[in-house]
Amino acid sequence: MQKLTIKRLITELVDIPIKRPHQFSAIKVSSKSFVLLRVELSNGVTGIGEGTTPGIFWNGESVETMKLVIDQYAAPFLLEENATHLETLLQKLNRQIRGNAFAKATIEMALLDALGKTYDVPVHQLLGGLHQEKIPVRWALASGTPEGDIEEAKNAVASGQYANFKTKSGKEAPDDDAKRSIRIAEGIKGHSSIGIDPNGSWDRMTTMKWMDDFFAAGIDFLEQPLPPHDIEGLARLAAMKKVPIMADESVASIQDAMRIAKTNAADIFSLKIHKAGGMKNTVKVAGIAEAAGIACFGGTSLESSIGTAACVHTYSSIPNLDYGSELFGPDWLADEIVKEPLVLKDGYIHVPVQAGLGVELDEEKVSLYRRKEQ
Ligand code: MN
Repeated sequence: MQKLTIKRLITELVDIPIKRPHQFSAIKVSSKSFVLLRVELSNGVTGIGEGTTPGIFWNGESVETMKLVIDQYAAPFLLEENATHLETLLQKLNRQIRGNAFAKATIEMALLDALGKTYDVPVHQLLGGLHQEKIPVRWALASGTPEGDIEEAKNAVASGQYANFKTKSGKEAPDDDAKRSIRIAEGIKGHSSIGIDPNGSWDRMTTMKWMDDFFAAGIDFLEQPLPPHDIEGLARLAAMKKVPIMADESVASIQDAMRIAKTNAADIFSLKIHKAGGMKNTVKVAGIAEAAGIACFGGTSLESSIGTAACVHTYSSIPNLDYGSELFGPDWLADEIVKEPLVLKDGYIHVPVQAGLGVELDEEKVSLYRRKEQ
């Protein structure tokens, strides 16, 4: 086979409206921004990748920094390189560019899409093969009031759309947050359940104080209650054996995963392909979890159907996704830039079967949502 080289990388920013404003611990958002990357190979195939973050508060990157890093620093190292030597390229990027995991994941996504299309296989085959054809999806309740969240959850369960949920916390004082979460959990008890995600905004004492009540309310898991650096605090909470502790912001790299496994600081890892620096790294993180007896949850950076497809291919290839996923991004956006958005049906997201990521750009939509000032 002739050498398959990388000929061009093109990035652009797009802003896609969402169905309802979403309250994180730090910010409220009404549209979602993405960097769209196209990588052209010497065989004429173009791969697409998508970079997005919950917000710059989450890990320090933004779509603007991703675009800059890809255009100015990564592209010169990639042009004319052999696209089939994926691991070599990723190692090279790691040596040349410190951090910027989200930008690197975006590049890997586009390369894997292009390679999948070249070999005519879906991306999960390049990651080791399929383990499950569909993945359960939790919806994030973020209406702003406990009553609104309870109603939203009950309606979603009644219609069969979603079975279980997550609530975002961190906007209020930790005690008020805890009370609100318990109220929601009690309001839907018998119908459904919730996991709580304060995005690292609580403290050790408050969290410990509420653990018995979380257990009594039937809360499924407590995700990243403490700041990302407080691994010892997470270990203390996990040792209480009340509610499973999920690490999210604390577990990004494979080295983080090893450290948390060694210190028994989590019962569950939230996987995310961008924070890990790509799909291959995410599979490695899941492997460390498997060896340590830690369960996995398929996290989201609130991707569109492009990034969500990358997540589905990755999560569907690992054996220990015991807590399902939160891959509701396509259902949360009011529109998409692909021709056929991924389908969420009866609480499950299905793995695309087409070559590459299995999604195709709708160029009219890309034009419509392209940011005017790039
Ligand atoms: Mn989280």
